[in-house]
Amino acid sequence: MLQSKIFSKTLKNAPSDEKSQNAILLIRAGFIDKLSAGIYSYLPLGLKVIKKIENIIREEMEKIGAQEILMPALHSKENWEKTGRWGIKEMFKVEDKYGLGWTHEEIITPLMKNFINNVSKLNDLAVYQIQTKFRNEPRAKSGILRTKEFIMKDLYSFHCEGSDSLENYYEKIKNVYWDIFERLKIKEKTYLTLASGGSFSKESHEFQTVTPAGEDLIYVCENCGAAINEEIKGNHNECPRCGEKRFKEEKAIEVGNIFQLHRKYSEVFGLVDSDGKPIEMGCYGMGVSRVMGAIAEIHNDEKGLIWPTSVAPFVFHILALDSSEEIKKSAQKIYNELSLIKKEALFDDRENKSAGEKLVDSDLLGIPYKIIVSKRNMEKGVVEIKDRQKGTVKFLKPMELNKFYKSKICLKNY
Ligand SMILES: [Zn+2]
Repeated sequence: MLQSKIFSKTLKNAPSDEKSQNAILLIRAGFIDKLSAGIYSYLPLGLKVIKKIENIIREEMEKIGAQEILMPALHSKENWEKTGRWGIKEMFKVEDKYGLGWTHEEIITPLMKNFINNVSKLNDLAVYQIQTKFRNEPRAKSGILRTKEFIMKDLYSFHCEGSDSLENYYEKIKNVYWDIFERLKIKEKTYLTLASGGSFSKESHEFQTVTPAGEDLIYVCENCGAAINEEIKGNHNECPRCGEKRFKEEKAIEVGNIFQLHRKYSEVFGLVDSDGKPIEMGCYGMGVSRVMGAIAEIHNDEKGLIWPTSVAPFVFHILALDSSEEIKKSAQKIYNELSLIKKEALFDDRENKSAGEKLVDSDLLGIPYKIIVSKRNMEKGVVEIKDRQKGTVKFLKPMELNKFYKSKICLKNY
């Protein structure tokens, strides 16, 4: 992509009402735009990050055979009255007949009843969607970590008693989530946290990523690393896993949650197996836009964002450091070559920007590798490669570039 064509621009300062690091950096870099508290637009570069996160999640869902669907965001009141959750105050209501979905048990359960009622075996049947959800969030002040409208992946599993069990599937999903968080590069800061089930089930687990902008408080066992959410900690003085009494208190944001729903919703909607017993269900959420915020919170420095290669809007940022024909031509050639391999290059071809401005903007955008074409380097017959994260610099001859591109875009987790 040519940087001169992108309509969004970098800003010197974020709006003064933004306090969280993710919002400040993402707005300044032109990834998102704020409409009002807790409501944001995703601009061209920001949407690329969202799509990459979605694709990583999608790939991991496909690996376990989950089937993708898309359910409506607009839900009829009757379904929610059946489960007694119509009154939940965080739900946006439309004309007192509809609600905007913040979760989808009330939709998926009757939907599946149309297809899997009275079966005797389900073989870990699971369906998921990646969709916009709504929540009337009174505390929307942490950038895209806590919003009124957000993108989420929600997965639902279905199990007949005595065959493939809900408990086994629940454990399997924990592992899948760790794989996803590893690819998204937030695993190191994320804790599996015991939590109360809220309106879903008695007990559940959250995946909590430690960040100063997090609004949840978790207690991490100093011995084994297990964590407990503040809401259930209550009088628990000991780690439920190892008995340790020392905990570290951390601010965190919930990036995923998993629940064993058992028969709660299948009973209400009459989703039963061939013996007439309600089908066991599990549900497993992951916040896509929230994950983007968490990545921005973790991967940055005083100069701006530092995207992991797996989710970066582009892997390479080609900078033509002066506007002489020779330099422009040379940078253009590199851009053309990269475009052939994969659409992973942003080319700063702007003519009205100084070398200094281009370098500052590049650091703010946080693209993993700068490919710097300058007069000084050209005279030596090399281009400069700068690693945004490590700050290291190396010089490559034009003939060595192809191998370099391939080594970076064929990363295992890319
Ligand atoms: Zn412990």
